[in-house]
Amino acid sequence: MKRVKLHDKEFEIAIRYDQIQTAIGVVAQRIREDMKDEHIPVFLSVLNGSFMFTADLLKQMDFNCEVSFVKLASYSGAASTGKVQELLGLDIDISGRTVIIVEDIIDTGQTIAGLFKKLKRHHPKQIKVATFLYKPDAYKQTIPLDYIGIRIPNDFIVGYGLDYDQLGRNLRNIYKIVN
Ligand code: 5GP
Ligand code: MG
Repeated sequence: MKRVKLHDKEFEIAIRYDQIQTAIGVVAQRIREDMKDEHIPVFLSVLNGSFMFTADLLKQMDFNCEVSFVKLASYSGAASTGKVQELLGLDIDISGRTVIIVEDIIDTGQTIAGLFKKLKRHHPKQIKVATFLYKPDAYKQTIPLDYIGIRIPNDFIVGYGLDYDQLGRNLRNIYKIVN
C-alpha cells in the first residue's frame, strides 16, 4: 500500500519493509559483536511501539540472552504530552547485568532519559540503547544512543509497531503523515 488513512489523517509510504529489515540486519550485527563476551544480556523492550522491532532484532541474536518488557507512554495522539507514564514496571533483577533498551523511536529523548534514570538506580553493569528510528533534530538529551537503525526527519510516522491513536501498528511499512 502506498497510502493509508487512520482516523482523520492520511499517511504515505516512507520506509519499505525491505529497507527496515536491512537496517535491522546492520544493527543486529553490531550488537552481536559487542555482546559476544557479555554474560546473558537482557533486552528491555519498551512497549507498545517496539514489539515488531524487538521481535525482528531478537531473531538475529545468536547468544544466550533474555528479553523483558516495560510499558511507558508519553504520546497522546500525534504530539508528545511531555510526561512519561509508567504503565508496566520492571519485573526482573538487573543489578550487575548488561541491559539493552530496545526502543521503536527516539524523538525528544524524554522517554529514554526517564527510563535510563530509573534503571540506573538498580545498578546494572551497563545500559546500552538500541533504537530503530531516531529523530536527530528533535533529540534534546545527552544519553548516547549506541545502536540506531534509521535516522529520520521530524515527521510524524506510523507503522511497524508505531501508532496514531492505536491504529497503524500492524502495518509492515513505515508511513509519514501527509500535511
Ligand atoms: P520522546 O520521549 O523521545 O520524545 O518520544 C518517544 C516516544 O514517543 C516513542 O517511544 C513513541 O512512542 C513516541 N513517538 C515519537 N515520535 C513518534 C512518531 O513519529 N510516531 C509515533 N507513532 N510515535 C512517536
Ligand atoms: Mg516507544
